[in-house]
Amino acid sequence: MEYKFSGMARTQGSSMVRDILKLTQGTDVLSLAGGLPADAFFPVEAVAKAYERVFRLGGTTALQYGLTEGYIPLRERLAAIMSSQGISVTRDNILMTTGSQQTIDLVSRVLLDPQDTVLVESPTYLAALQVFNSYGANIVSVNTDANGMQLDDLESKIKLHQPKFVYVIPTFSNPAGSVWSMERRTGVVELCRKYGTLIFEDDPYGRLKFDENLNFPSLFSIDQQLGGDGHVMYTSTFSKTVAPGVRSGWLVADQAIVVKTANAKQSADLHSSSIDQRALNELLDFFDLEGHIRTVSAEYHTRMLRLTSLMKERQWEGITWNDALGGMFMWVTLPEGFRSEQLLQLAIQEGVAFVPGQVFYADLSGSNHMRINFTHTDPSLLPKAVDRLDRALKMYMEENVVRNAR
Ligand code: PMP
Repeated sequence: MEYKFSGMARTQGSSMVRDILKLTQGTDVLSLAGGLPADAFFPVEAVAKAYERVFRLGGTTALQYGLTEGYIPLRERLAAIMSSQGISVTRDNILMTTGSQQTIDLVSRVLLDPQDTVLVESPTYLAALQVFNSYGANIVSVNTDANGMQLDDLESKIKLHQPKFVYVIPTFSNPAGSVWSMERRTGVVELCRKYGTLIFEDDPYGRLKFDENLNFPSLFSIDQQLGGDGHVMYTSTFSKTVAPGVRSGWLVADQAIVVKTANAKQSADLHSSSIDQRALNELLDFFDLEGHIRTVSAEYHTRMLRLTSLMKERQWEGITWNDALGGMFMWVTLPEGFRSEQLLQLAIQEGVAFVPGQVFYADLSGSNHMRINFTHTDPSLLPKAVDRLDRALKMYMEENVVRNAR
């Protein structure tokens, strides 16, 4: 049978990198590639107790269909949590989603027509690029440095393209692990307010801070301080604070956007799991989530420091990285001209994996970068992982020196 797939399905190929990384599953390749939290820190007992409570308190309703917008007590709780973070909203501004990945998909579905422009950071989150592509968007990268999007470039691209929205990850981004400065946060919101441009703020990692005294206000809160009018849509998730398996995220936005997105969600999956939402609500009743986030963040900080100290010992020439202030990723810059896709092939032969930088750029530039996850690999294995990476780098350099000399 010859299947006639839609145009959208035809554009959604599996990436070469994903295929390579899939091959490493079940082998002894140490993966610094995936964006996975540390399994050992999942609050298994507490989550089990929360589910038990759901069934003891009212199993029948938990098993019934629920509201598309999500379980009301959880949305009310989230509205209070958001308000404590400077985002002053009610439950009517909140839509529960099956992870923030679904928020990205649904928001794109209600806002993007083919050829509409989306402005993104350079680099940005790979799976968001895939969603925007699937809706036929014209994705345009804005020059980005360690402090965030560059304001002059953003302004000229807003004027030139009149984007439907600007998609950003200002705090501990994926892949670069970077944090926008206060000046850029305010500057981007001011520019978008000036031109009536919508911002889509994705914040899965903001709670994973390595220094509790650091404070990075969301663009949503800055917009509200400047007068509001709904210039920012915000999404976050329980994936990195509780566990990704609960598949629970949320959208915070002007009610007009929440209503349209809820309509889209209805056709996608009617609603996110009633049981999971109730279990999360129970969990937040008795579990010290704030304490848990502090524990996990401290562990991630230790792992990041361990990895970077092992990397420093190698004294790799011309190779630099950011010491992340939070989140799950380090962004490594290799010498100009390096092709990290080729380095990956050698690294896998040696038994270690990372994600080559190119895939995080809308224009497929950025070959001389790689994303390294420091949260998932057991710390006892990090010396082995760095050894293997070291061998791969040496092989790459030898091969390329020989090739260039020919
Ligand atoms: N946005 C970003 C930037 C991410 O890194 C991720 C997860 N890797 C997501 C969204 C999706 O997270 P989830 O669907 O698990 O909430």
